[in-house]
Amino acid sequence: MAWDGGSVGTDAGDTAELARRWAAALAGGARDHVVALSAAEVTQLLTRLAAGLDAAARQGDSRAAAEIGAEFAEARFVGDEVLGLSVATLAAHFATRGLDAAAVLGAFGTGYVRAFRAWLLAEQESARAAEIAARRAAEQRLRDNEARLRFHAQHDPLTGLANRTRFFDELGAAFTDPDARVGLCYIDIDGLESVNETLGHAVGDELLAQVARRFAELAGPGRPAARIGGDEFVVLVPRAGAPSELAELADAVLRVLAVPFEVHGQRLTVTAGIGVYAERAGLTSPEELLQNADTALYWAKAEGRGRWAVYDADRQQRERTRLDLASALPGAVARGEFFLEYQPIVTLANRQAVPVAVEALVRWRHPELGVLGPGRFIDLAEDSGHIGALGSDVLTMACRQARRWHEQLGPAAPVVSVNVAAAEVEDRGWLPRVQQLIDDTGIAPAQLQLELTERTFMHTTGRPLQTLRILAESGVRIAIDDFGTGYSNLAYLGRLPLHVVKLAGPFVHRIRTAGSAGRNDLLILEAIIDLCHGLGLTVTAECVETRHQADRLLELGCDTAQGWFFQRPMAAGLATEQLTIAAAMAD
Ligand code: C2E
Ligand code: MG
Ligand code: MG
Repeated sequence: MAWDGGSVGTDAGDTAELARRWAAALAGGARDHVVALSAAEVTQLLTRLAAGLDAAARQGDSRAAAEIGAEFAEARFVGDEVLGLSVATLAAHFATRGLDAAAVLGAFGTGYVRAFRAWLLAEQESARAAEIAARRAAEQRLRDNEARLRFHAQHDPLTGLANRTRFFDELGAAFTDPDARVGLCYIDIDGLESVNETLGHAVGDELLAQVARRFAELAGPGRPAARIGGDEFVVLVPRAGAPSELAELADAVLRVLAVPFEVHGQRLTVTAGIGVYAERAGLTSPEELLQNADTALYWAKAEGRGRWAVYDADRQQRERTRLDLASALPGAVARGEFFLEYQPIVTLANRQAVPVAVEALVRWRHPELGVLGPGRFIDLAEDSGHIGALGSDVLTMACRQARRWHEQLGPAAPVVSVNVAAAEVEDRGWLPRVQQLIDDTGIAPAQLQLELTERTFMHTTGRPLQTLRILAESGVRIAIDDFGTGYSNLAYLGRLPLHVVKLAGPFVHRIRTAGSAGRNDLLILEAIIDLCHGLGLTVTAECVETRHQADRLLELGCDTAQGWFFQRPMAAGLATEQLTIAAAMAD
């Protein structure tokens, strides 16, 4: 390149030679160029810079030299030895040219260092900015991860609803204000197991997801819905208003479930049981709120599908007492806390009211609650599986008393009628126990009567029925108790090994007074009594409380009766006295 450098002539070959030497010097030093240039580019750049410096040296132009130094630095010729090697090469060159280039080379160095420093600063600045940006990105990633983790820790993956953990957080938050009435709908989907079993878990899962979506929509903002168990959901009402709010919510839950679901091409309908409870936060605790709603749910489920029930402390207290009683039952039998009262069953004929039988009615002398009637514990004993032990105790006491009466009254001894529960008859050990008792006490089988309710007979088929036949054939009297309260299935009367039909209290109640009996009531009673007689059965009316009832029953042909009009249930001692008097009068 021809280049007019100034007063002292130079030529392109000279400059090229300088560039070559310069490049060679740099190549010998530590090469840590930040920006890599090809050899050709280096040569081209250094040739241009060498020419510029040569011109500056000739003209004593320090400013131009400084700019060239800056350009050299900006081309990223940086490193420990770059400047030193460059100045040495350039100084040698100018010396051979007889130029005093000290000032120009000084300016070149200054320009280089300044640009280099500026570049370094910019580099540091951008490094810092890059570091900050990187840190921010990392922190954001961390936050995103945490949020994702938190979401998963607090939500149910299947339905996306809040899970148990999240629900308890929200419940706890609702309790921060002691005046807030916090309400809960505890929902349990009916029959999910059968969906899973018959249609597969994929269908069950999808059904749950759709159910959850409806709940979330229904509850809306401010009333969080959560899935807290396999088929258990809750809707929390942190600020419950009037009691009707929760009732409406429960109704709405049942309504949204009633709309059929489309799951994998299947049309499914779903019902649920719901327990409802609301209370002021200051008067309860989150655990108690949930527990009580759960109790109400249990009540709702016990009533059938698609029901809701509200928690009621009194009812809970009653149920708790029932549970306490149930668990105390076996011990009470062992301690002999049960005893019998006896209620005479009398003849109606001639208005003589001669006692021919007594019904043994069990009572529990409870150490804390006093004497309890069978209404408080018989069902309980049946449900808890303790009826066998209790029934056996009752039969033993009744048979021993029958034996005593037999000894005291001879032929005037009454039949002792004992109530028997279905579960007892179904138990294989029951028949031999009864037979053994009759043997042990030495009573005539005909002195024992067993009362079974209509309900019991309905479930009595197969072996239990055979058991009753064996007893009946041996002479034990079998009575159907409370006839008329259940199905009043007349067909049973002909098929069962029966001796006695006891007309239920409600039946007899209809003819309590002259005004209370309708013509039809009397007709029905008469037809039943006639039918029983036709089948060779004795008819006993229960719960006879008035003379009017006794008179009508006598007119209708009823054989015997029992009730307060004649005698209340009484202790064995008193019953013995009464029976003795009656026997003496009959003589
Ligand atoms: P149930 O066998 O029908 O006994 C008659 C019930 O009616 C007795 O009640 C008796 O006290 C009551 N009663 C008698 N006369 C009248 C009356 O004129 N008016 C009214 N309103 N009631 C009258 P209790 O003793 O409370 O027995 C209730 C039920 O408990 C019995 O009904 C029987 O089903 C059952 N039960 C009693 N003892 C036993 C038992 O030892 N074993 C079993 N399995 N059940 C028993
Ligand atoms: Mg009875
Ligand atoms: Mg009865």
